[in-house]
Amino acid sequence: MPVPDEIFRDPVRLAKFADRLLRHGSTRALVFMHVCGTHEHAIARAGLRSLLPDSLRIIAGPGCPVCVCPPEEIDLAARLALEAGVVVATFGDMLRVPGRISLAEARSRGGDIRVVASAAAAVEIARHEPGREVVLFAVGFETTACTTAAALLAHPPDNFSILSAHRLIPPALEALAGMEGLALDGFLLPGHVLAVTGPEPYDRFVRLTGRPCAVAGFEPVDILLGLESLVRMANAGEAGLVNAYPRAVRPGGNSRAVEAMARAFTVGDARWRGLGTIPGTGLDVHPERQRHDARHRFALAGETIAVPDDAPGCLCSRVMIGLAEPEDCSLFGTVCTPETPHGPCMVSAEGTCRSRHLYPAAGSVGGTRTVTDREGGAS
Ligand code: SF4
Repeated sequence: MPVPDEIFRDPVRLAKFADRLLRHGSTRALVFMHVCGTHEHAIARAGLRSLLPDSLRIIAGPGCPVCVCPPEEIDLAARLALEAGVVVATFGDMLRVPGRISLAEARSRGGDIRVVASAAAAVEIARHEPGREVVLFAVGFETTACTTAAALLAHPPDNFSILSAHRLIPPALEALAGMEGLALDGFLLPGHVLAVTGPEPYDRFVRLTGRPCAVAGFEPVDILLGLESLVRMANAGEAGLVNAYPRAVRPGGNSRAVEAMARAFTVGDARWRGLGTIPGTGLDVHPERQRHDARHRFALAGETIAVPDDAPGCLCSRVMIGLAEPEDCSLFGTVCTPETPHGPCMVSAEGTCRSRHLYPAAGSVGGTRTVTDREGGAS
């Protein structure tokens, strides 16, 4: 019988698991990284950091797909709207992320940029406006990439194409594990991503790096269960992957979604804002579907202009890899707020700076604020 989600939000259970984690404790200081904007939001909202023992630290990695999208890809989307005259369909989170110019600025300069909630919605625009070229700026990890794949495979109209900025997580973890200055004792893996892919793509990572990994869901108890598994493995010196989210993550994942991605895309290298180019983390449109590949379809004159990953004073590139906390940034909460964001981490609903700003570290356990800013995400 399915277990209702409320159980994983129950304050009594939350206190019990937090107490177990405190007593279970770690025999040494441990640092775990999550790579999921939804995890950061849930952790900040529930005030989970305030429940952890001092010896246990959880830091945010590059888990916000909008944030890791490099400026040159945003620039390309803006140029498609402004120079090629196409309709650019984008998720709401992407609109204000800075590039050379943001998509919001491109819209104010006359670009036809429309916010959609799904790839299917962008296809609908193309069907209803056969005289216009419609390009979906496709951003997101595996959870979103499979929906873009489904749209590509469902015989979209000829005037529909995608600008793929999708990213894959497992090879990015390998890059993080080897990064200088980052001493990580384990990884909390995003449950919704592994519900799509299954745990198998992480076998290589565990084998190569010997790090503990735990898949966790997004309710407070789910996250504590995942952390407890990580503490236990780290203290025992074990590597492995524990599935602490079995109600959603199963061996093999969603086979239809995995197959759709394999048919719609090929794997390539991709640049991440703040991390540089990581081999095997990009999804390019499969050559068989080239007529729906905006990169192939539209030849723009001149090169896309490179701009720095960070605006002056913004530490997003360091925040996204756990080398800085939002509070380390002198602009945090003063010059840079959700209303006046200076970097992608404050723009996106999945950005670390935005979550910390909405729910300061000492926030109440269980969360009391109404969350209305989760729409338009692209995980
Ligand atoms: S607070 Fe703003 S300026 Fe500072 S790192 Fe975060 S997004 Fe960048």
